[in-house]
Amino acid sequence: VLGIEGKTEKFEEPNKEDEDLREAPIDTLSIQQQRRQLPAFAVRKDLIRAISENQVTIVIGETGSGKTTQLAQFLYEEGFASSLDKNGQKKIIGCTQPRRVAAMSVAKRVSEEMNCKLSEEVGYVIRFEDRTSPQKTVIKYLTEGILLREILIDPNLEDYSCIIMDEAHERTLSTDVLLGLFRKLLMRRKDLKLIVTSATMNADRFTRFFGDAPQFTIPGRTFPVDIMFSKTSCQDYVESAVKQVLTIHLQNSSKSKLNDGDILVFMTGQEDIEVTCELLKEKLEMLDDPPPLDIYPIYSTLPADLQKKIFSKKNEFRRKVVVATNIAETSLTVDGIKYVVDTGLIKMKVYNPKLGMETLQVVPVSVANAQQRSGRAGRTGPGVAYRLYTERATKNDQMHLQPIPEIQRTNLSNVMLLLKSLKVDNLQRFPFLDPPPQDLLSRSLYDLWVIGALDNFGNLTSLGSDMSNFPMEPTLSKLIILSCKNEFHCSEEILTVVSMLSIPSVFFRPKERAQEADSIREKYVIAESDHLTLLNVYNQWQQQLVKSNSSYKKLSIWCDKNFLQIKSLIRAREIRNQLVLIMKKYKLPISKSRSDDDVRKCLCAAYFQQLARLIKNNISGNSQAEYVNLRNKVMTMYLHPTSALNGGTDMAPNFVVYHELLLTTKEYMSCVTAVDPLWLLQYGYYFYGVDEKTQANLKNLIDFELIDKKDFEERLNFDKLRYQDVIS
Ligand code: ADP
Ligand code: MG
Repeated sequence: VLGIEGKTEKFEEPNKEDEDLREAPIDTLSIQQQRRQLPAFAVRKDLIRAISENQVTIVIGETGSGKTTQLAQFLYEEGFASSLDKNGQKKIIGCTQPRRVAAMSVAKRVSEEMNCKLSEEVGYVIRFEDRTSPQKTVIKYLTEGILLREILIDPNLEDYSCIIMDEAHERTLSTDVLLGLFRKLLMRRKDLKLIVTSATMNADRFTRFFGDAPQFTIPGRTFPVDIMFSKTSCQDYVESAVKQVLTIHLQNSSKSKLNDGDILVFMTGQEDIEVTCELLKEKLEMLDDPPPLDIYPIYSTLPADLQKKIFSKKNEFRRKVVVATNIAETSLTVDGIKYVVDTGLIKMKVYNPKLGMETLQVVPVSVANAQQRSGRAGRTGPGVAYRLYTERATKNDQMHLQPIPEIQRTNLSNVMLLLKSLKVDNLQRFPFLDPPPQDLLSRSLYDLWVIGALDNFGNLTSLGSDMSNFPMEPTLSKLIILSCKNEFHCSEEILTVVSMLSIPSVFFRPKERAQEADSIREKYVIAESDHLTLLNVYNQWQQQLVKSNSSYKKLSIWCDKNFLQIKSLIRAREIRNQLVLIMKKYKLPISKSRSDDDVRKCLCAAYFQQLARLIKNNISGNSQAEYVNLRNKVMTMYLHPTSALNGGTDMAPNFVVYHELLLTTKEYMSCVTAVDPLWLLQYGYYFYGVDEKTQANLKNLIDFELIDKKDFEERLNFDKLRYQDVIS
């Protein structure tokens, strides 16, 4: 399992500036003073008493009160980590985070507070990256997903004396599954302490869930925040946000040049954050001698060294604007924020069980989230929140009152696979805080059955159990496992493809040089496949790596010239190395393909359930090729504008499999590969041909009540695609 069996290979130091930041001497005295000023410090004694006297404690506190950074340290200082396990090793204190960035950044901060090197006494584990030391680490920050995988290996979590489930109010899918698992685990491990931290919004639910577990509230002080709504709903939220930031900046700097407070902007994701930062820079440059403004982006895939910059101290003479995703809502606290600019939007994965598709959508946040966001302006003094939406929008049904827990809106295949591996067979009886809707549950089981992870009785197949060894979504795990088979013989290439799919886009496309970037990108294109295009990019980068003797400087010049993101490529390489370790652990062969067709066949075999067929060509040149989704036969879809398959005047391919569906202005398939329909029958026959035997098998699923009968019939019609449909 990643993060457990191998240390991340240290690639090479990034640039000098980042290096300086990391090595900067830490003023331990002032950092200790800062600690003592946190609200958590004032109630330390009572807090420790509450935790000592109870197996489960719910801790509630305002953001910034010190829950994430202090709780684990208090427990450590009070000796909670000193009991020995059966190997004579100290037990450790774990603190889970819903987000990777938070785990990394908080671990770094706490290591500074404890005056030790990161990855020694204090470390973190996120997917594909383990920065802990088995001998030394006593406080470990980890993502919830990693803790779930650790439970798979050790269902009793013997390494831990205390677990803090931080930010539990976020109610991610993993939070909910962990909560359910803890109910039994705590009975087996009477000595294990569980601390659940929460914003006020969900605390009572946790208390009831753990049989009246006591609540401990950290009293905090907040300042009033004025809330300004937009008069009209905005057309372009990036533009509106930029305008708002500049207005704040200029209006409040006119008299004195002093910075009266920093600005925090809530955006939806990396893309619009980058555009916002660019646009801000552009607009500033157009001004005549503007007061200084430092612009910092923050999102989960931003490299750690850059993330750290947002925590730079408030500067009296320079204003700072942090443009963030939802991460800044509760998990990271930036001090000195006086102004919040809230787009009121969030990027959310929503799964549609009827269509069997997950889409990434930008949706309005809930009223509770909006309040939380605004509150960030009132941490150090009175503040102002500018909401880029109307007051009306918060009152009619455009916004939910509370966020919908992820478990009720996402594809559960991944988690079902995990629970099946943990031998939780009766999902109806699993203690979910909020049970997932039945159609979502049965659809997810059905999805696992389709890809062969479950048998006709709903039990884990050997493929399914092999798949659970890889910490990734089921289709990608299956892709790797298939690639090892002699028939496909291409694990060497597939490992690369999977790694490249696990990072943000490697292509860099600055607005002002878009054309240049596009024409250079053409050099890498493999016309029939985005997957092969990604492989090609990676392989060329590997060649450069050898040529340049791994010199970061040379590589970075090469990447800039080719409009490639060096950080993403380095990350892909790290991920690939981690995957190779897993392959070795399970004795899976790493074999080179004999031809591109090997790879495409393998992709077809793993993705056959994500298939589309051309219905309207783009031959006229001015319209986009149109595809229909063959799973439901109704949904029209398009190749993503960045797809390699768009190029040229040739006919678009008749059949394609796709990695993901993105719903933006249209339904776009992203990362697409052309496939031969005969391969589809070969590898997906039972899915597209539904013969009698398969029907009987499906019936079994109903008999065992794994699928609701009505639901099933509806689906059979969707899925029953005759031979002729595929061949014609
Ligand atoms: P909570 O979890 O209750 O929201 P935290 O423990 O995250 O509070 O934060 C406590 C304080 O520590 C905050 O005032 C914050 O500014 C500071 N802090 C947290 N992380 C960092 C960091 N990486 N760098 C600098 N300061 C930090
Ligand atoms: Mg916190």
